[in-house]
Amino acid sequence: MRFLPVFLDLASGTVALVGSGPVALNKLRLLRAAGANVRWYSSSADVAEEVLLASTPVGRLELSFADPLQADYAEFVAVVSATGSALDEGVAARARARNVPVNVVDRPDLSTFVVPAVVDRGDVVVAIGTGGASPVVARRVRAWIEAVLPARIGELASLLQRYRARFAAVRHKSVSPRRFWERVVDGPIAQALLAGRMHAAEAALARAINESALPQQGAQDGIVYLVGAGPGDPDLLTLRALQVLQSADVVFYDDLVSETVLDRARRDAERVFVGKRKGQPGIGQDEINRRLVEAARRGHTVVRLKGGDPFIFGRGGEELDYLRQANVATVVVPGVTAALGCAAEAGLPLTYRNEATRLTFVTAHRADDAAATDWSALADPQTTVVVYMGLASAAAVRDGLIGAGRAPATPAGVLARGTRPDAKTVVGQLEELPALAAQAGEGPALLIIGDVVARSDAWRELQRQFVAKELAA
Ligand code: SAH
Repeated sequence: MRFLPVFLDLASGTVALVGSGPVALNKLRLLRAAGANVRWYSSSADVAEEVLLASTPVGRLELSFADPLQADYAEFVAVVSATGSALDEGVAARARARNVPVNVVDRPDLSTFVVPAVVDRGDVVVAIGTGGASPVVARRVRAWIEAVLPARIGELASLLQRYRARFAAVRHKSVSPRRFWERVVDGPIAQALLAGRMHAAEAALARAINESALPQQGAQDGIVYLVGAGPGDPDLLTLRALQVLQSADVVFYDDLVSETVLDRARRDAERVFVGKRKGQPGIGQDEINRRLVEAARRGHTVVRLKGGDPFIFGRGGEELDYLRQANVATVVVPGVTAALGCAAEAGLPLTYRNEATRLTFVTAHRADDAAATDWSALADPQTTVVVYMGLASAAAVRDGLIGAGRAPATPAGVLARGTRPDAKTVVGQLEELPALAAQAGEGPALLIIGDVVARSDAWRELQRQFVAKELAA
């Protein structure tokens, strides 16, 4: 490590900036965003005028057309030079002679400090440096951090800042400040805030501080996240799903949740399977509900991980009802539902201008569900029908749709194990649906019926093979 990252209070004096090209303008933006008072040695009056007209009034911006080499360096807290010419060397030499920190853009050899790549979340700022070795690497690292750092982490820091003094004033001596703040940051208060429930978080923090005035605090309730795990590919998790998985104490998961998704959970999180394995009954919805509440009451951060989206044929609504009744803080994190993940993978647009103007998700768990479904609502040839849990009742789905008036030749497909390594798409016509289902194999699958199936990759491939065969014959 050649450079030590430090955070400079730029309001404490003036920063000199030399240069007026695009690189200098970039630095000017950064300095002003940090609230710096800037003396800008610009050699171009035109550029300067443009910037002054467009700039936001943060900090003081002073324009100078004087020779920067003649300036009194003692008045600067830092100097940034970005002329790209020999002037940089002169500026650097003068700054060094006065012991003023100097950065020459892209010239670590002339600099006594480098400007890091910055992730700016308000009070929370992450600085990334490569000692000037590679700005591209620094930008990549910044992108990674941007992706995983919760968007509201800065708001969290400023909320805690606002309540620090109050806590210090009322806290009973038996309450350890470190443990108290850790519980706030690792527990439901911070999680509510990060999920955007600012008022709830603030109210809970105020309550916790009031309680800290009393000796000996009781155990605090945890929180349950109902999280959509997406259709299988872990890269289809949302950023928020990833963040809560990383903070989980315990993860309850279904049979639809793939191993590779589970691997994204915090390493020491306890994993509890609550799905159904082939031939064995599951533990039942009531028992799942009870276990979720019990884990939350033990103060845990609980992730209830469900395939796809929790609110689409996943009984997420029932679990939410139960948790609300039990007064357990609950946050729902959406996921990519199977239809969206599978359709994207298959190159199958679910709607299409003038051709598919309506999209319906239905479930046909058992053949009698399919028989009880009102297929007449789906007779419109411009409706794309996606059937969840329909593999075993493909014949009833076919009969229902054709009975309601859909053409037997309507393009139809079975999308099995979508977004997983063994994904398979089979396409054909609605009247062949049971045969297509039989070809799809084991595992979760969707039935999709509608003209747009003819736009899928699998359909195009089928057509190509057909044409090739015709030519060969
Ligand atoms: N909540 C889930 C659906 C649960 S119901 C979601 O939003 O996706 C279970 C049904 O979802 C399965 O029977 C199957 O029809 C469908 N499904 C789930 N994952 C799938 C996948 N990877 N490929 C195809 N279908 C899938």
